[in-house]
Amino acid sequence: MQYDVVVLGAGAAGMMCAFEAGKRGRRVLMLEHGERVGRKILISGGGRCNFTNVRTKAENFLSENPHFAKSALARFTPRDFVALVEKHGIKYHEKTLGQLFCDDSAKQIVAMLARECTEAGVETRCGVTVRGVRRAPALGAASASQARFVVETSAGSIACTSVVVATGGLSIPAMGATGFGYDLAREFGHAIVEPRAGLVPLVFSVADRERWSDMAGVAFEVVARTQSVVEAATKMRGKPPVFREALLITHRGVSGPAVLQISSYWRPGGEVSFDMVPGVEVFRPLLERASGRDWNSAYAALRTVLPTRMAERWVRLRANASAGDWTNAGIARLEGDLHAWTLRPDGSEGFAKAEVTVGGVDTRELDARTMESQRVAGLYFIGEVVDVTGWLGGYNFQWAWASATAAGAVA
Ligand SMILES: Cc1cc2nc3c(=O)[nH]c(=O)nc-3n(C[C@H](O)[C@H](O)[C@H](O)COP(=O)(O)OP(=O)(O)OC[C@H]3O[C@@H](n4cnc5c(N)ncnc54)[C@H](O)[C@@H]3O)c2cc1C
Repeated sequence: MQYDVVVLGAGAAGMMCAFEAGKRGRRVLMLEHGERVGRKILISGGGRCNFTNVRTKAENFLSENPHFAKSALARFTPRDFVALVEKHGIKYHEKTLGQLFCDDSAKQIVAMLARECTEAGVETRCGVTVRGVRRAPALGAASASQARFVVETSAGSIACTSVVVATGGLSIPAMGATGFGYDLAREFGHAIVEPRAGLVPLVFSVADRERWSDMAGVAFEVVARTQSVVEAATKMRGKPPVFREALLITHRGVSGPAVLQISSYWRPGGEVSFDMVPGVEVFRPLLERASGRDWNSAYAALRTVLPTRMAERWVRLRANASAGDWTNAGIARLEGDLHAWTLRPDGSEGFAKAEVTVGGVDTRELDARTMESQRVAGLYFIGEVVDVTGWLGGYNFQWAWASATAAGAVA
């Protein structure tokens, strides 16, 4: 049996691409080694799938080639995906910061994509592992319908004209994640931007674990920063992004949306810093008086803006370290420390806990309009396997939909 298009992986990107190509009358086969399609969608957004972000811009993505995503994102927008969701009668709501979630369940998004695939005549085979792709032997004069590839699978060989690699990244191996897409890209001569865990909790150094780990469960709003955020913004010729969201202390380190966001930019050995009281001058009351400048007053001021346990610990650690410098300059330094709580994490929780993989197939040899390899005609890479990684908040799915639609329109 020969197909026009074989899509490798039935995740968000694979399903979207398969039905787009199917709607064009292409004979499409989608292969998935898991027992069911869309498994990551099912666990996404706490089971409600944060399926897009209405504020999506290219600035919300990390990539060695930051302008690459612009074309696909401009041609398939959050509004286009919302139109699909509405066509299927799925109720949704905006939670915060432009993030759209299903009212009921992520299962509705998987059912919607599966139905679109069925209606477009896509053949889906689960429980089939793709082992490799090779070029088909040339048979005289090439014609448009001649097979260019042979896909080797656990269920035999399949000939096709186009191969779309939608096998995702390395995050959550327990959900079927593999490095297959990277290996395949390398075999065909593509460079890989070293994959690393993104949107992942960070682990305390030994010293910080002693200081903070018994505060597990404490959460507060911060502004998170790290040096490479500035470098990434410079590449985009934009302003460094500001991640003003919640931080959560855990037994092993720090988590919560602000930490997940900054983790994608953080590099091993580097520091992360958190403004623990953004926009507030906590110790101004102390500056405004000549007497009563002491640790008790500092604590009284701090507990109005931080959880009591955190305020108490922060003051105690500093009081143990010094008697306190209650001059104006000393108070200003104390204030400065609050706005730059700096940690040098020992590492991250790794791919087992990461929501995404940063890095992937280098985009410099992919066509930004179609996702086709510039090295191998008929070979496409879409979704998370590509070196385009979104922030937390629905951006990764929007990239999956947009890149899939770009490839599905031509593959
Ligand atoms: C816990 C969690 C929550 C998330 N929540 C959100 C969210 O709310 N919003 C958001 O935007 N993003 C979210 N993400 C990120 C988002 O799920 C991914 O970016 C997105 O699923 C990537 O889509 P994809 O199709 O490229 O890859 P995947 O969805 O990972 O699909 C790849 C598929 O390929 C299959 N596969 C791999 N190797 C082979 C092989 N050799 N043969 C056959 N099949 C293979 C895999 O089994 C998998 O089904 C979340 C991620 C996680 C882990």
